[in-house]
Amino acid sequence: MPEAPPAVDVAELLALDRAHVWHPYGPMPGRADPLVVESAAGVRLRLATPVHGHREVVDGMASWWSALHGYNHPVLNEAARGQLERMSHVMFGGLTHEPAVRLAERLVEITPEPLRHVFLSDSGSVSVEVAVKMCLQYWRSTGDRAKRRLMTWRGGYHGDTWQPMSVCDPDGGMHALWSGVLPEQVFADAPPAAYEQAYADHLRELVARHAHELAAVIVEPVVQNAGGMRFHSPAYLRVLREACDEHGVLLVFDEIATGFGRTGTLFAAEQAGVSPDVLCLGKALTGGYLSMAATLCTSRVADGISQGEVPVLAHGPTFMANPLAASVALASVDLLLSQDWAGEVRRIESALRRGLAPATALPGVVDVRVLGAIGVVQLDHAVDMAAATDAALRHGVWLRPFRDLVYVMPPFVMDDEDLATVCTAVLAAASASTAAAADAGRPWPRAEPTRRKNGSDT
Ligand SMILES: *Cc1c(COP(=O)(O)O)cnc(C)c1O
Repeated sequence: MPEAPPAVDVAELLALDRAHVWHPYGPMPGRADPLVVESAAGVRLRLATPVHGHREVVDGMASWWSALHGYNHPVLNEAARGQLERMSHVMFGGLTHEPAVRLAERLVEITPEPLRHVFLSDSGSVSVEVAVKMCLQYWRSTGDRAKRRLMTWRGGYHGDTWQPMSVCDPDGGMHALWSGVLPEQVFADAPPAAYEQAYADHLRELVARHAHELAAVIVEPVVQNAGGMRFHSPAYLRVLREACDEHGVLLVFDEIATGFGRTGTLFAAEQAGVSPDVLCLGKALTGGYLSMAATLCTSRVADGISQGEVPVLAHGPTFMANPLAASVALASVDLLLSQDWAGEVRRIESALRRGLAPATALPGVVDVRVLGAIGVVQLDHAVDMAAATDAALRHGVWLRPFRDLVYVMPPFVMDDEDLATVCTAVLAAASASTAAAADAGRPWPRAEPTRRKNGSDT
């Protein structure tokens, strides 16, 4: 049977998109046309028009870490539908509702002790802004106004609003563009993969030296995600916890990307056995359905703020604790916990190890690494986006490389056959990029300092 014609006029959509619509990290208009997605189900995106004969492509990105259970999941759909019929939204000032209360209760239950209080906001970046505000205000309230800087390590990513940008990797994070405008924070070197005493000493020394002006240390535990997909020894998190305790500095873990099982434990911090004073969650919180994030803190932080000169946390987004998002988030967390999610992540981990291993022998590949449901192939040149994504699409797979990285973050429901296809597509994308870079003439272009998730445009 011939394919039914697309329900939309794709050419018209793309023309309007070009004329009016800004895409992430892109110029206006974008350099390349995006693919038009018509719908999505399970691990597949359905395109409005076929690409290389594929009307449906397997999604290797889980929509930027978020779609844990795949698309169009009956349980999440039902949660959204049920809530839609009760109410989509009400303001959170002076009002409350069951979805927010139950979600907060669940998050406190599953995150490390002694995190006890939850601020629900609309995006990961805002949850980091709230975390920073909590930390700065804690010290102001307890009488130490000098403690207003942040420390982090290089290679991180914490979001695109102002305070988060200031703790993103200073080279990858466009700090040069914003010098003199962004708050200047304290940067440790990027954490090595394995434990090194000298690096632990470097962290301790930096915390000690700046303690008088530091409100908090903020890091992504175990995996630095959009800053470069780097893994590090959990032991460094214990070093930070000890140094922060010793010198009176708060510790913030940004688990927006690593939360909800991605690294093999429910939260990456569990691998170090340490708990932060403030924790940020987002991305997979709603199973990729709606935008919502959470900032959790301890009673010590909450009490410090609430007993201060201005005894309130002055933050309150219009769509705070949105009931629709909270209902889906609760359903998504419960769905995750009702399954052997750790077994599934282990299954994905071994499939990625198996499937990506041949990449080590490919020209242009400098590293292949896998942790939990994260697979990374690092190249010795900035990925040729057009060549790499096109090669993946030939295999019917959607990938979105960035900088020098071709990586996958599959939904946890991806079966072994699709995982094998995704790995084949990663190898093809890496090879195509290397070939294109060679064609463009050696020396290969160096990895340019672009932003996270996607290299240069759209
Ligand atoms: C994606 C991400 C953010 C920003 O979240 P948004 O929802 O995109 O604002 C912050 N921190 C980490 C670790 C992230 O991966």
